[in-house]
Amino acid sequence: MAARKRTSGQEPGELFDRRSYGRGGASVPGARGRRTRGSAATATIPEDDPLDDSSSLAKEMLAPARPASLRSEPVDPRQVGLFETEPLREFEYVGGIHLTDSVLWCDCDRRRDLVFLSHAHADFIGKHRRILATDKTVRILTHATGKVDALTSPYRRRFTLGPLSLEMHPAGHVLGSAQILIERGGRRLVYTSDVNTRPSATAEKAKPLECDVLSVPATYGLPLYRFPPREEVIVSIRQFIDECLNDGANPVLIAERVGLSQELMRVLGEAGYKLRVHGSIYEVAKVYRELGISLPNARRFGGTPARDEVVIFPPVLRKHAAIRKLRKSRTAMVTGRAVEPGFAVQQRVDAAFPLADACDYEDLKRFIKGTGAAEVYLTGGFVEELSADLRAEGVRVFSLVPPKQLALF
Ligand SMILES: [Zn+2]
Repeated sequence: MAARKRTSGQEPGELFDRRSYGRGGASVPGARGRRTRGSAATATIPEDDPLDDSSSLAKEMLAPARPASLRSEPVDPRQVGLFETEPLREFEYVGGIHLTDSVLWCDCDRRRDLVFLSHAHADFIGKHRRILATDKTVRILTHATGKVDALTSPYRRRFTLGPLSLEMHPAGHVLGSAQILIERGGRRLVYTSDVNTRPSATAEKAKPLECDVLSVPATYGLPLYRFPPREEVIVSIRQFIDECLNDGANPVLIAERVGLSQELMRVLGEAGYKLRVHGSIYEVAKVYRELGISLPNARRFGGTPARDEVVIFPPVLRKHAAIRKLRKSRTAMVTGRAVEPGFAVQQRVDAAFPLADACDYEDLKRFIKGTGAAEVYLTGGFVEELSADLRAEGVRVFSLVPPKQLALF
């Protein structure tokens, strides 16, 4: 097997002349009027209520939106699979994922006029960018970043933006995460970031949406990533915790600040464990609670946990002095990567548990096939490997990652 490469869809590489595109601050009626908690200026899009065509944003979308700078873009046909006889691709990578011939960008980390943010893992949310997201995603994001100009919609409510008919559906990844179904010209297109089709205690699980074109990352797109049933993993985590506590050590679980941490908080808190979570996790948990997710038995970490308390920290702080100072502790990482051979040893932790917030290899293939999409765009993760597997099964696959992508892992 070729060396494993994990690629990311969010690599830098400015290929796009911003001066010739997206200028002028298009306005959406009602987009700036209301404010919700976290200083978000949000506008909830009414059902089947198209934007006023007189708005500059709508005009911009109705006009042929492909700017001169994109037409002159040097394109490597091997990268994007473009050949003269093939139709224009629905999605393209131009310094970010872009719905071709539209103003809509997806999870883009550069300043654009309108970006669909699929979930609250984005830490690149620009202060003056208008985002399109679920109301829950905006609530979680704005808690940390302050003011955001946002268009929000709940799941399963259809709305229109110029020529696009849009609808958000659960992605199962973290609370509020969404796939977006885009209909235009009689074609159904779905863009999503990570999806999770297994049950979760904190996020509504993803179901495949029937579509012609699908854009999805290949995060765990290798057969190596085969996750055991969730209940088994939870039993193992509880055994680890019990053994630590019986031995007088504080268990320290390392999990993503948004999503997996709250998942652990819910499962363990409801099982009666006393939790001490890092402040950054606690802040997110407060929003989860406001959004109706019960996270009992959890307090903010204050430096000296009691002997019967379980500590949860985010991965970036796993080597924090506060953990090293604990009288006696054992550390475990909670991530899908835990199934990689030797992962715990490599990460210098005592244990690792594959509780994941994204599909494993088989789940992902099942999800992709479940959409019935004839064209699939892979936007990060194990793009080359999953592309080969899907092509072998007759699916047309395109890579939607920055050119000259380097291996990151
Ligand atoms: Zn994520």
